[in-house]
Amino acid sequence: MEKKDINVLEQMQNMTVDMNSKVMLEKAEKDGVETMYKRKLGYKVQCGFGLQGVCCRNCGMGPCRISPKTPRGLCGADEHTIVGRNFARMCAAGTAAHSDHARDIAHTLALTTPGGDYQVKEPQKLIEFAKFMDVDPEGKDIYELAHEVAEVCLMEFGKPFGVSKLLKRAPKVRQELWHKLGIEPRAIDREIATVMHSTHVGCTSDLDSLIHMAMRCSMADGWAGSMIGTMLSDVLFGTPKPVHTEANLNVLAGNNVNIILHGHEPTLSEMIVAASELPEMQELAKEVGADGITLSGICCTGNELTMRHGVKIAGDFHQQELAIITGAVEAMIVDVQCIFPALADLSKHYHTKFITTSPKARITGSTYMEFHEDTAMEDAKTIVREAILNFKNRDQEKVLVPDLKSEGVVGYAEEAIVGQLNNVVNTQIDEMDTLKPLIDVLASGVIRGVVGVVGCNNAKTPSNHNHLTIIKELIKNDFLVVTTGCGASAACKNGLMLKENAPKFAGKGLATVCELVDIPPVIHLGSCVDNSRILNVCSLIANACGMDISDLPVAGCAPEWMSEKAVAIGTYVVASGIDTFLGVMPPVTGSSKAVELLCGGLKDQVGACFFVNENPVELAKMIMDDIEGKRPHFEELYQEKVLNKRLAEA
Ligand code: SF4
Ligand code: SF4
Repeated sequence: MEKKDINVLEQMQNMTVDMNSKVMLEKAEKDGVETMYKRKLGYKVQCGFGLQGVCCRNCGMGPCRISPKTPRGLCGADEHTIVGRNFARMCAAGTAAHSDHARDIAHTLALTTPGGDYQVKEPQKLIEFAKFMDVDPEGKDIYELAHEVAEVCLMEFGKPFGVSKLLKRAPKVRQELWHKLGIEPRAIDREIATVMHSTHVGCTSDLDSLIHMAMRCSMADGWAGSMIGTMLSDVLFGTPKPVHTEANLNVLAGNNVNIILHGHEPTLSEMIVAASELPEMQELAKEVGADGITLSGICCTGNELTMRHGVKIAGDFHQQELAIITGAVEAMIVDVQCIFPALADLSKHYHTKFITTSPKARITGSTYMEFHEDTAMEDAKTIVREAILNFKNRDQEKVLVPDLKSEGVVGYAEEAIVGQLNNVVNTQIDEMDTLKPLIDVLASGVIRGVVGVVGCNNAKTPSNHNHLTIIKELIKNDFLVVTTGCGASAACKNGLMLKENAPKFAGKGLATVCELVDIPPVIHLGSCVDNSRILNVCSLIANACGMDISDLPVAGCAPEWMSEKAVAIGTYVVASGIDTFLGVMPPVTGSSKAVELLCGGLKDQVGACFFVNENPVELAKMIMDDIEGKRPHFEELYQEKVLNKRLAEA
């Protein structure tokens, strides 16, 4: 390798802290293939106007960009309007992605039949949810009920009147605040359409209104779309329970047919799991000379599958290309969201079949095998067969699977958390199946707070560096971490989801809780739509304590966020009263007013705001200081609302 190439390789390797990824980047160079890391080097300087959010191309008179010489766009929009509009549109796109995902799940619930490809796996959960959605389950067959609930959920996307039914999950005081501020989401699609309308040339040019709209739209994600997606996925595919898994690229080792599932929607991936378990598929794998089939996941499809089946996690967002570069992947099957179009060209350098399945995400150069929910199993079998038959094309000369993987325990849905907490309930004094043990350790300060560390990888920061630094700092200082999305993959790959590792990484208080409750110090709650589980747990705790969510010693953090979905998530988390800490600056710095509002002013309105710091150690400190700052108020309220009540009852 020439000196120039080594320099390039070193630069790329410095863009990740994952040791497997470093090995694969060296292989990429040897194989002469391009990755995101190489492309990033080509982008030496990114456009300052875009970075600050002051570029507008919302009409044909533009593009316009704000600078000291051109302080207004041609229509007269100033930097505050342009930044506000761009921010709101990011929220709308993120909400659209999560919600369209949820819509497909609701349609799938409508397709369920006894003995069919899709069935109701959790009838009791469906009954409870039906009641919550004002559907009377009395005297109804479970499938009749499923179809009715599906229809009611689908109405949440476009109902003409009212607000999201799911808001009722939030504490009353929070619901009243949303009502007062006028940010209760109405129908999901309506909020997305309203943002697109109001950000059209010649509509809203008032920053406060734009940010309010962005919040209301994002709330339609967290408190409607994502919540429906998570709930119905549990009903259809089972509520996750603690399960053992393995993570990182070494899960591809061995002589098995490797099928990677990448994307988001469990309707496809659940069916691929079922198809690949069929005896006929296992036999076919043997016939082509493999020992069996290894399924593994990337991004949120990986998270959904690992939560419900312990399917191995091949990697996170930044490892999607690197997985193919191992040369050991027979097929990468994708549906929607977070899929690099670059995979099409890349897979041609290897034997890997890059199979797209969704009309919503067609990618030029891929093998397109459309998946339909109404012929799900047949379609899944065709796709799995294609993958297996490709095993004979594997070129051993091109195979290099890096050495590392880690074990972990994942699958902590809300019910699973409550189930684990039962381990420390004294039935003489307390009831089973409540969050009381968690509330007690939070109130006593044994655990200082709970932080949701979520989100993506971003080329602006070395892959996994921020995630791992922040998570380790937090657990070392007795903050329990719950995680979803690619942050969860980063944690699992590094042994942070192993119960045995609690004493090694966690502070004394947290380690003791982990041992007694039998949980790892970092809790995997699922995929990005499963951030709605975080909202639910916070609501349950706040309701149990008679508090608002903003009173709790909790925080959200997206250390390496990159997607518009992450912007919507951060925004609904803030609107829900949870301070949110970002490790990458959003494109808003071109408007001093937007920065002031998002990183300060919102606190007076919704009780929370954003904080940004690109140094992960400092960001972790900011999170801990913020929660410590909230603790006296929380402890006082706890005394007043919970302890005194318990004493009175006793
Ligand atoms: S909407 Fe206004 S700022 Fe945007 S491109 Fe058109 S004229 Fe320029
Ligand atoms: S965490 Fe980000 S990168 Fe990962 S799947 Fe979710 S949106 Fe995509």
